[in-house]
Amino acid sequence: MEETNQEHPYNQFASDNYAGICPEAWQAMQVANRGFVSSYGDDLWTERACEQLRQVFETECQVFFVFNGTAANSLALASLCRSYHSVICHELAHVETDECGAPEFFSNGTKLLHVNGPGGKFDLAEVERAITRRSDIHYPRPKVLSLTQATEVGTVYTPDEIGAASELARRYGLRVQMDGARFANAVVSLDVAPAEITWRAGVDVLCLGGAKNGMAVGEAVVFFDRELAQEFDYRCKQAGQLASKMRFISAPWIGMLESGAWLKNASHANHCAALLEELLIDIDGVRTMYPRQANSVFVEMPEAVVANLRSAGWHFYSFIGSGGARFMCSWQTTEGDVLRLAEAVRLASAEISGVR
Ligand SMILES: *Cc1c(COP(=O)(O)O)cnc(C)c1O
Repeated sequence: MEETNQEHPYNQFASDNYAGICPEAWQAMQVANRGFVSSYGDDLWTERACEQLRQVFETECQVFFVFNGTAANSLALASLCRSYHSVICHELAHVETDECGAPEFFSNGTKLLHVNGPGGKFDLAEVERAITRRSDIHYPRPKVLSLTQATEVGTVYTPDEIGAASELARRYGLRVQMDGARFANAVVSLDVAPAEITWRAGVDVLCLGGAKNGMAVGEAVVFFDRELAQEFDYRCKQAGQLASKMRFISAPWIGMLESGAWLKNASHANHCAALLEELLIDIDGVRTMYPRQANSVFVEMPEAVVANLRSAGWHFYSFIGSGGARFMCSWQTTEGDVLRLAEAVRLASAEISGVR
């Protein structure tokens, strides 16, 4: 088993879900572990977590907790659609590329229509084309616009961009869903109130990530339009997403929100990514692929450098383009980790140019 400690550092920038459980979430689980508590979410921990989210979002939203992001997105989308509808999303969207068809499965056939746009953000003209391209009975009727905040390539939508997207969606009778697996990183990056990039900007449902930001499991599905939450509890249960020991999902949310750890963790992860970017762009042959706005850095570098890093034991994803690498930071990443990675890239690059 690989361990993360000083003697045996696990060299990883693969994902923020490689990190452990942060102290605030861990401690909340420990406190919630005392004694008997009623099951299936009918408990004070869950009530308090929901109330805390209402305070964070400054509105009477309806909240549900599920085990993971795939379930949160799929069930949220399914609740907004009928089987003959469609969801418009970016071609790189997690719902399109990384959920194994779960949104289609849980909605009994709702089709995802993907559109393009630079920096992982959809182009509104393309969204409008996808909505208006057809109006006949043979085309799955567009019903939801789904956007990811922060995006899959580490950029963020500004409040104005979200507002404009929602306005377009509204104009054509579409609802707006936000995949917020890294929502906290976006909040910190934009330095805005959570409400400003959700319901005040027209978002109907937010899937709010917990796991990547320091929790063990558990994402919150936040309905700003409470009408849309009707019977969502049945949907969760049927999908196997109703935790019987719900307090172990909800209590960590209390720990994260009341202590401010949810923003502190995101802020730390973003800071590490910013530092990494600063160090990497100074290295010959390394080029960033997207503006660094959240907790990841995407770079292009020579294949030989990538291979060299891998053989030295560094873990990272490289699934976008040849030589492209994604370095993801988390609450647990240290500045020391960042310095070691940057140094490894610098040495590998120097070696390559020496060979040439
Ligand atoms: C990680 C992630 C999710 C959730 O994935 P799960 O593994 O199902 O928890 C959803 N959206 C995005 C953008 C993600 O990065």
